[in-house]
Amino acid sequence: MKRIENWRRTVARTFKGHVPGQVIIQITDRCNASCPQCGMHKEARFARATLADDDIRRIIDYAGKHSVQAMSFTGGEPLLMLDTLADLLRHAGSAGIRYLRTGTNGFFFRNPEAPDFLDRVKRVAHTLANTPLRNLWISLDSALPEVHEQMRGFSGIMRGIERALPIFHDAGIYPAANLGMSRMLHGNATLDLTPAQFSSRREYLEAFHDAFSTGLRTFYDNAIELGFTMSNVCYPMSIDRDSSSNGLEAVYEAAAENRIVAFDREEKGALFRALLDVVPEYRAKIRIFTPCASLYALRQYYEHGIKTQYPCRGGYDFFFISAQDGDTYPCGYRGTRNLGKFWGLRETLLDPEPLCTMCDWECFRDPSELIGPLSDLVRRPWRVTWYMLQDPVYPRLWLRDLRYFRACQYFDGRTAPDHRRMAPFIPGTGKSSSLDTLALQTRAGLAVSNSKAMLTRSIYHKILIAIISSISELII
Ligand code: SF4
Ligand code: SF4
Repeated sequence: MKRIENWRRTVARTFKGHVPGQVIIQITDRCNASCPQCGMHKEARFARATLADDDIRRIIDYAGKHSVQAMSFTGGEPLLMLDTLADLLRHAGSAGIRYLRTGTNGFFFRNPEAPDFLDRVKRVAHTLANTPLRNLWISLDSALPEVHEQMRGFSGIMRGIERALPIFHDAGIYPAANLGMSRMLHGNATLDLTPAQFSSRREYLEAFHDAFSTGLRTFYDNAIELGFTMSNVCYPMSIDRDSSSNGLEAVYEAAAENRIVAFDREEKGALFRALLDVVPEYRAKIRIFTPCASLYALRQYYEHGIKTQYPCRGGYDFFFISAQDGDTYPCGYRGTRNLGKFWGLRETLLDPEPLCTMCDWECFRDPSELIGPLSDLVRRPWRVTWYMLQDPVYPRLWLRDLRYFRACQYFDGRTAPDHRRMAPFIPGTGKSSSLDTLALQTRAGLAVSNSKAMLTRSIYHKILIAIISSISELII
């Protein structure tokens, strides 16, 4: 009943310009890993904090009554408090929140040959399986196992993941490989690239693009080989401590100044171009959340200075709650906008509309890009039509994302992939082929002015049909 009531409120809010809400709760900033790109690594010196259970339950209850459909429990390392986490997940499910997520650095996959390994992994898998958790992510820092293990400070963890995944699958949990994008993606092949090695900036950026494309292919090949059936990419987050330089001030210490996550504008353009090239190649093989429409929008911004039409919903529909003070922020990176306790959140405190594009935090940017056109279609269809006519590539990628998401059962991490439904997304086959051609044109940077003729009424109708069927599947 609570779920239906939650959806009823969500639909009502859609007509006021809102979309299903998302809250990320940082339940603790304690961590036992040593990732150099993160401010919460175990050697970092600051006063660690863990939110009180009662406060988290209060946040959940308020969220359940206010159209929040997605909630992530993050850290630090959330699985350091496994039993508490399981209770909170059950509480959130009872409050009517459907899309429940958490993640791990995988510390319990260490020592895979130890006699207690299977019991250790089974306990985690069965504890989580006995909750309404929908998605579990396992963070990976590199396509190369030895680089990932060295960064996390967990030796043997990759073999542990390989042994553990079948146990999770048997328990009904299909974890996602969450790639934290950095210069360590392909070890020294991506880390050591510098402009000084090339005669021109253009040459450097092409080599950069090629090296990251190769790294991404290696990552997906290895993830599939390990037994993952789902994957996501976290775009690089580097925050300059001098907040005046970019307007950001991190409350979520997963951001860092380390060179390995710092990229300049042109490098980001080449990076998003590499992602846009490689992600479609693997969509039939592994469920990849990373939406091509979002990658395209970010690439257009960094390579051509064209801002997205669909800014981030952080501070409008999406929120972050910090372990340090238990307060609410628009996201983990606008630390100067303390919105107070979540249960005291008032409409007047929120951004007047989605406005921000200051960072590339995929947790908020990807769903904002996906949901933005839906919101426009409900409230101001003329605007979305105008955008589509201005740039026909974007809606076609977006429509394909919607079709792909349906084929992936909306990334339900409690069900096995349906490879039959994913098969049409093999590049160059089925319905996707004409869109691959279009994506190739955009990769080459070709103007697609004549593509406007391709945006016919029938495409517009297809979009509407895809949206209506998507919404009905999501609600049911
Ligand atoms: S990235 Fe995650 S696992 Fe690594 S130190 Fe930070 S919080 Fe811990
Ligand atoms: S784009 Fe979104 S996540 Fe990034 S700073 Fe702005 S509100 Fe925060």
